[in-house]
Amino acid sequence: MKKKLAWPRLCISATGNSPRELLAGARAALRHSSFVELRLDGLPRPLEFLRMIPELLAAKTPRSRTPILQATCRREENGGHFRSSVGEQFRILQKAAAAGCRLVDLEIESAEVTGKEAVAALRREAALILSFHDFHAMPPLQATARRLLKFPADVYKLIGTATRQSDNCLALDFLRSVMDRGDQAGKWIVFCMGQAGIPSRVLALSRGSAFIYASCPPLNSVRGFAKSPAPAAPGQLDFEVLRNVCRAEGLGPETAIYGLLGCPVGHSLGAAIHNAAFRAEKLDAVYLPLLASDLKDFRRAAVCYPLAGFSVTIPHKQKILRYLDRFDCAVRETGAANTVRLRAGRWEAINTDVEGIVVPLRRAFQLSGRQRLPASFRALIVGTGGAARAASAALRDLRCRHIFVAGRNSAKARKLAREMNGQAIRLATLPQEKFDLLIHATSVGMWPRQEETFLQPEQITAGTVFDLIYNPLETRLLQMARLRGCRTIPGLEMFLVQAARQFEYWTGWEAPRQQMRQVAQEKIREFQLRGEETGMP
Ligand code: NAP
Repeated sequence: MKKKLAWPRLCISATGNSPRELLAGARAALRHSSFVELRLDGLPRPLEFLRMIPELLAAKTPRSRTPILQATCRREENGGHFRSSVGEQFRILQKAAAAGCRLVDLEIESAEVTGKEAVAALRREAALILSFHDFHAMPPLQATARRLLKFPADVYKLIGTATRQSDNCLALDFLRSVMDRGDQAGKWIVFCMGQAGIPSRVLALSRGSAFIYASCPPLNSVRGFAKSPAPAAPGQLDFEVLRNVCRAEGLGPETAIYGLLGCPVGHSLGAAIHNAAFRAEKLDAVYLPLLASDLKDFRRAAVCYPLAGFSVTIPHKQKILRYLDRFDCAVRETGAANTVRLRAGRWEAINTDVEGIVVPLRRAFQLSGRQRLPASFRALIVGTGGAARAASAALRDLRCRHIFVAGRNSAKARKLAREMNGQAIRLATLPQEKFDLLIHATSVGMWPRQEETFLQPEQITAGTVFDLIYNPLETRLLQMARLRGCRTIPGLEMFLVQAARQFEYWTGWEAPRQQMRQVAQEKIREFQLRGEETGMP
């Protein structure tokens, strides 16, 4: 009987369009992990690369482990780049095994062409991963599993593409059902590709996946932050993110799952700071991007994962209200929720954006306890969207009596001003006005268009300017305000307060504010250098 094989739990996929590129990618990957997949199908002549394998097998790896190489030469019709025949594919995989690759990945479609004997012969050379990929949707999992199981293999890989959040649950439930059947435990790799499928990649190990794939962290060129190599598959996460941010190898069936509901979600800092906070407090919890456009499907998924709580961002902050069982007065006042927790099947929500504005203002104007803003205090809100609504609720909370609203759309500015007993004001008249506070709540000046500002210097006529944008850390508007002698409050202050409050609402623990601040600052700087999105990936 064949011995049951065990592998490290994270495999880095090395890709490249030339032998040089693949070699560099594989070498870089081996610096992080002893387990590396060689995507031979990107090469014009994969056989030529095989002579490099002895060099890779001699490479230094973390903790001096012997490198374990997997050879993959996926055919174009099955989602890879290899354009030659199935026979040639077999020849390459056989030679890769002879050269020292301990695993080979073969698509079920190729296995069905050659038949059981050829597949068994290949399996005698190296451990066999028999795989199926759907790059568009979720395949019927049970039927596809039966198709795979017709061929004896060491590992079965069944990968679909998530187009909605509940697809993740299909994959994770399948893994759980396999784990329950002892003979198949540890023999399956199941997850979803695509941005919406990221939760299944992170959680797969916790539900019994044999291992999962990661992309190589950025090569250290610019102060440790270069662009990441292209991932081998859509939604594939960087090894460092899987290992150190999400701690995918340490998650289990009891891990509390949190995340960010939104569309898009890749721009958020949430994953970095909440996962850092969970780690700092040694909580068995993880925070994931939950890309979703369909809230009904999201609700099904939330129950199925099950989620313990989630943050909410564009475009769901208002629409989420119809799914809530209970919410606080900040939600009622703004008509928007950004934080939800699930308690005994009930969805409870708060809006921490309001507190995120109140707390920095209290600090800046030295208002303690129940102290309010002076009766003569004049505040201007620029912008008319969700953040402007949170700003108006915050100002009312501080009993500000003179609130003005300006925006590019004057009808919207009038509407918001009416709702909060304030006054709409035309942008052209700003140079003649004087305010104690200006809160900037438009998205103008956000990365990647950080050179832009909605206001001209002469329109900045307030003693204090609070820009709600947090990426970049110092916006063009804040630079201009400082040059005009204003006191400035960066959007990061709001971001950190609202995130800390979320953490406390979910966990009941005091948030590790210092660590959260440090991670957020590092992440934004890294983002500026790499020019990539801040979240996952
Ligand atoms: P939103 O609801 O989409 O509102 C965006 C606002 O910006 C609207 O008033 C919009 O005007 C205006 N706007 C967009 N493009 C503009 C342009 N080219 N010129 C002039 N005005 C423009 O978004 P939001 O949630 O309020 O977010 C607004 C900003 O606040 C974003 O930068 C966001 O990152 C930031 N924010 C920060 C935090 C934090 O924690 N620091 C929290 C929430 C939001 P129209 O209505 O006319 O389109």
